[in-house]
Amino acid sequence: DKAQAETAAPAVARRLDNLGAASVLFYREPIQMVSASGAWMTAADGRKYLDFYNNVPSVGHSHPEVVRAVADQMARLNTNTRYIVDVVDAYLEALKAKLPAALSNVVLTCSGSEANDLALRVARKATGGTGVIVTENAYHGNTAFVTEVSPSALKRGSLPDYVVAIPTPSQENYGPDIAEGFTASLRAAIAELDKRGLRPAALIVDSIFSSDGIFADPPGFLRPAVQAIRDAGGLFIADEVQPGFARTGDAFWGFARHGVEPDIVTMGKPMGNGFPMAGMAARPDHLAAFCTDVGYFNTFGGNPVAAAAGAAVLRVIEAEGLQANARETGRYLLDRLSALADTDPRVAAVRGAGLFIGVDLCDPSRDMAPDPDFAVQVIDGFKARGVLIGAAGRFGATLKVRPPLCLTRDEADQFADALADILA
Ligand code: PMP
Repeated sequence: DKAQAETAAPAVARRLDNLGAASVLFYREPIQMVSASGAWMTAADGRKYLDFYNNVPSVGHSHPEVVRAVADQMARLNTNTRYIVDVVDAYLEALKAKLPAALSNVVLTCSGSEANDLALRVARKATGGTGVIVTENAYHGNTAFVTEVSPSALKRGSLPDYVVAIPTPSQENYGPDIAEGFTASLRAAIAELDKRGLRPAALIVDSIFSSDGIFADPPGFLRPAVQAIRDAGGLFIADEVQPGFARTGDAFWGFARHGVEPDIVTMGKPMGNGFPMAGMAARPDHLAAFCTDVGYFNTFGGNPVAAAAGAAVLRVIEAEGLQANARETGRYLLDRLSALADTDPRVAAVRGAGLFIGVDLCDPSRDMAPDPDFAVQVIDGFKARGVLIGAAGRFGATLKVRPPLCLTRDEADQFADALADILA
């Protein structure tokens, strides 16, 4: 590892020189990557890493069908979005077939941040309210607006007046009845907005609560909260940037686990398997009301190459049965990790849905307190064993297990064996 760090040092210095304070790198000794395929990435020194941090090239790194679709379309036609191009409408129809029928207008963007920014502005116009309710460690993106509704991005200071953050839907926060506790918190947030003289525009949540630490259960716990925000005149926005596109196994979208139909759905990350694309699906009347004021144009969002990438991703998910694989291999992996939790008190909890799993690491000698230092050790231990993984949650003590959807049982075993070895 020392040799690796020494080799990487000039490249890291060069990166810092180029990107400055905005440079975000993994690991104290970052890895120089050169190529990737399936669930594996290859570094400049020839080492291979099993990618468990993946939520972008989700159908597998460098998937040949996506690569071919992008290259073919790029060679034929790519342009701004002011023309009618068949591949774009064909893609939108394929995507809409996966969405609730009422959300029949889809605006394509280049990033999840843009999609959420637009969603919140549409919600404000549709409701006449301005307030936004989020979870306490949520991340929704990097524009001025969505940074303000992303408590996890806040390094200092406090949230603006129109934002109220509510506790993560965990058992720890709410006890066994998460649905009731979470809804009570939401009602209190609505009352707090009212005290500030504000009406709610939206409850926006990542429906797998990834940056909060991954909370999928019990299925349906979001349902009464969705009803409560609507009763108060606000919309429910499902941010599907993380759980969308089959990752949670039982369903194509995270919200489906809760048996709710959002008023607006946003999506991104795995949508183009690495080609930068994202989107917002809304009701035509909501979008039309917004567009009478300012309109919306996006030069690159949903261009023909993006549409070709997106369409290829949908085809691959279907053809390779990746949703079923996420469910089955995810269940297998969850069982193996749960077995480790049963034998090692430092693994406090394992939970998730499909190939989106959280592993809480704690310090048994400090009343099972979340242990971010131990999490860093475990993450470094994985790296030394050729596995890439990151942490999430308020304390940074939850391993965010998110491999590509094409993961095999053998690769799931490699991950679980590596964790067993690190713990030993
Ligand atoms: N929403 C969620 C839940 C996310 O995790 C992210 C990115 N981490 C975003 C939105 C923003 O997406 P992007 O980085 O593509 O702007």
